Amino acid sequence: MTFSALDLKPALLDNLAGLGYLQMTPIQSRSLPPILAGQDVIGQAKTGSGKTAAFGLGLLNTLDSSNFRTQALVLCPTRELADQVAVELRRLARGIPNIKILTVCGGKPFRIQAASIDSGAHIVVGTPGRIEDHLRKSTLELAELTTLVLDEADRMLDMGFQDSLDYIVGQTPAKRQTLLFSATYPDEIQSIAGRVLTTPVHIKVEETH
Ligand code: ADP
Ligand code: MG
Repeated sequence: MTFSALDLKPALLDNLAGLGYLQMTPIQSRSLPPILAGQDVIGQAKTGSGKTAAFGLGLLNTLDSSNFRTQALVLCPTRELADQVAVELRRLARGIPNIKILTVCGGKPFRIQAASIDSGAHIVVGTPGRIEDHLRKSTLELAELTTLVLDEADRMLDMGFQDSLDYIVGQTPAKRQTLLFSATYPDEIQSIAGRVLTTPVHIKVEETH
């Protein structure tokens, strides 16, 4: 299945062709239709299966670039993973003018980061601890958030981010789209999914050998 079968902005389709993304990967072809329809989705597929573009295209297709308030928040377990997600989102966003994607992770000076957030970012990609800090200090505000993404949710829980995640979710509008991606689906993920997602579509791509 090709991306052109989806209702994506022409600029995104042009960009995907330029990147050489011709066929959708299985997690993309199964999760993008419900994501683009605005549904909550649990996407379960192994590493390297293209999960970033699955949620990334959903975010980029619905963003209002004229509104510089944060519309999407992507939570990742580590700074390295947040950087990788931001790189991929920027590649995907190339066709769309004026999209600002900001990474907000620990290990960077807090006040400089706060100033960057204040100057406006459509998409914030960050780690739970530092995002929680910014929310508690009101240097990040999520009143206009439309989409929340929990990427590598199993690893975030393994790393002990449960309480941070619950706090962050509590700071987002109740009416939002939530997308949860995970390589595995242990009981703890089921439990957080039950609290955070609303009637999600659960997509599981089995490994093929
Ligand atoms: P995951 O998050 O599932 O581990 P990534 O989103 O990091 O996987 O994607 C893995 C690699 O596949 C990246 O290098 C990405 O650029 C590439 N990729 C993703 N989707 C496609 C596609 N449809 N066609 C070709 N390459 C793709
Ligand atoms: Mg990933």
